[in-house]
Amino acid sequence: MRFDVVSIFPEYLAPLDLSLIGKARTQGLLELAVHDLRSHTVDRHRTVDDTPYGGGAGMVMKAEPWAQSLAQIAAASPVSDGAKPTLIVPSPAGEVFNQQLAYELAAEEHLVFACGRYEGIDERVLEWAAEEYNVRPVSLGDYVLNGGEVAVLAMVEAIGRLIPGVVGNPESLVEESHADGLLEYPVYTKPSSWRGRDVPEVLLSGNHGKIAKFRKELQLRRTAVRRPDLIAALDVAAFSKADKNVLWELGYAIVNGRAVQRDAVVEPD
Ligand code: SAM
Repeated sequence: MRFDVVSIFPEYLAPLDLSLIGKARTQGLLELAVHDLRSHTVDRHRTVDDTPYGGGAGMVMKAEPWAQSLAQIAAASPVSDGAKPTLIVPSPAGEVFNQQLAYELAAEEHLVFACGRYEGIDERVLEWAAEEYNVRPVSLGDYVLNGGEVAVLAMVEAIGRLIPGVVGNPESLVEESHADGLLEYPVYTKPSSWRGRDVPEVLLSGNHGKIAKFRKELQLRRTAVRRPDLIAALDVAAFSKADKNVLWELGYAIVNGRAVQRDAVVEPD
């Protein structure tokens, strides 16, 4: 899999040389190149921005350096005939990045990231790029960053770790938060008793069935408290009786395969 990142601050992406992503690059599991947008400017000041048409605060990134850079990357794309590479444009106005999108993007052959700065990139670049790319504006969350680089660091890490071989034990990807629509259960390590706090007894029992049941219950409890929106999105039709009982205890009724807060269920007259 290949990643290309375009930025006016290429050095911002240096952490991608480190840890599991850095190791995966060394091992050839993924290729990653960072490009300086300013190398596609022609003036002495290497200008990449200008004032916005229509007025307003801030500056807008000029179209031409982006077109030059993206055309060069598309021309060298490893994507085979007929298909297009995907251009991710980090933006607080994009679809929100999540684990499902990370899985979807990890199946692609070539991802290109266009890091915006200032008030963003001239909108015509996104329209123009659609000829060569599948263009996806993607947001890290509902807040505003100064630039796309931090969002790219997060996305490359989340996507990259799903590439086979990047994470040593593939089992750890299965049991994580968001893998099954729930948050992960709490985890503990040695010593079993620490500053007067004991690890839950069942985790020391060696009984794998009981441990799995206990952990699922904790997943449901933690998710209900911290992310009730995730509980509402669950397909609970195939849940075990025990899991449905936990949901009931947490205040949910099962209606048409969905967990619905009991106080929101209106009784017929
Ligand atoms: N004026 C833009 C708006 O209100 O939608 C925000 C521009 S922001 C200051 C500059 C750049 O930071 C954006 O072009 C984008 O690349 C990046 N950025 C900011 N917030 C982001 C977020 N939540 N997710 C992804 N990228 C973000």
